[in-house]
Amino acid sequence: MQKLAVYLPPMNTEEKRTDVNTLGEFGLIEHLTRPFSLHQASSIKGIGDDAAVLDHGDLCTLVSTDLLVEGIHFDLAYTPLKHLGYKAVVVNVSDIYAMNGQPKQITVSLALSNRYSVEALEELYAGIRLACEKYEVDLVGGDTTSSPKGLTISITAIGQAEKERIVYRSGARPGDLICITGDLGAAYLGLQLLEREKRIWQEHPGIQPNLEDQKYAIGRQLKPEARKDMIEVFRKINLVPTSMIDISDGLSSDLLHICKQSKVGALLEEDGVPIHPDAQMLALQFKLDPITCALSGGEDYELLFTIDPSDVEKIKYLPEIYIAGEIVEEAHGTRLQTKGGNLHPLKAQGWHHF
Ligand code: ADP
Ligand code: MG
Repeated sequence: MQKLAVYLPPMNTEEKRTDVNTLGEFGLIEHLTRPFSLHQASSIKGIGDDAAVLDHGDLCTLVSTDLLVEGIHFDLAYTPLKHLGYKAVVVNVSDIYAMNGQPKQITVSLALSNRYSVEALEELYAGIRLACEKYEVDLVGGDTTSSPKGLTISITAIGQAEKERIVYRSGARPGDLICITGDLGAAYLGLQLLEREKRIWQEHPGIQPNLEDQKYAIGRQLKPEARKDMIEVFRKINLVPTSMIDISDGLSSDLLHICKQSKVGALLEEDGVPIHPDAQMLALQFKLDPITCALSGGEDYELLFTIDPSDVEKIKYLPEIYIAGEIVEEAHGTRLQTKGGNLHPLKAQGWHHF
């Protein structure tokens, strides 16, 4: 075959260069994907929710992908590979539950440097397998490639839902109640604890950390669970939330996603935000306000959802569902009412990865 003539234009040093940080993660996604339009009638929901929704008649397919990069999303100094594998699956199936769907299959793609031995990868896959068993999903494929440095894991989850039971971020209406499935902030505090112990260990190798008292927060960070049980409860009590998202970036950021997509505001009550007593104690140790950890911490993987007020009887006596406020008109903004009765605008701070 004839060689292609390659013409490389001279490098233009005048070319406009915008740092990705100026847009932020969500701004960047919006900026890059805005020019795309959907061509297929089967693409019911593309970009912008916890998972994409593909039409297959009465049943829809849900698809969600996550990318985990060593040094950005995980640190192997304190994350056992088995836990990492487990968590990588959990964060993906969580996005399918956040659509009120059932995850069915996953694919796992790896880019790895030669630092990783077969034994290390076996550990990673032992964690992936454990999660596959717990959430009843099948590993059906993936891709493996080498990388100059570190480990990158990309998991795609494929799920299923009945069309009329799918819950989007965009369905909240003024008057709806804001609900949360479990306590918040502990995963973030667990991470602070692990980071602190890592620093101590780096300065004084040999000192073994004693984390016995902090099992709860560390467990929330290293071995989170997705709320499969709650999706089953919703079906049992015949409830379809009006909107839903999983709390991966922090309550503030994720509630703001619901508000933006639903074109509504929210009044969140500090008193209604569940925080575990261990997280309260730990926050004080770190001189942090527990509510700030719940609002901005992230990685709790609880479900944040809204319900029509006429459905309140269905959830009122369920121990693991907390009512934390109300959806209001968009013009009223998104605000937190503190225990002292003051109002503060909610800010999205769930953006530490870039
Ligand atoms: P989550 O926190 O629930 O995993 P993300 O914030 O990662 O959700 O993504 C929000 C939406 O943007 C999703 O619909 C996702 O599919 C889409 N998205 C994220 N990154 C990209 C990308 N690089 N190109 C196209 N769509 C993207
Ligand atoms: Mg999500």
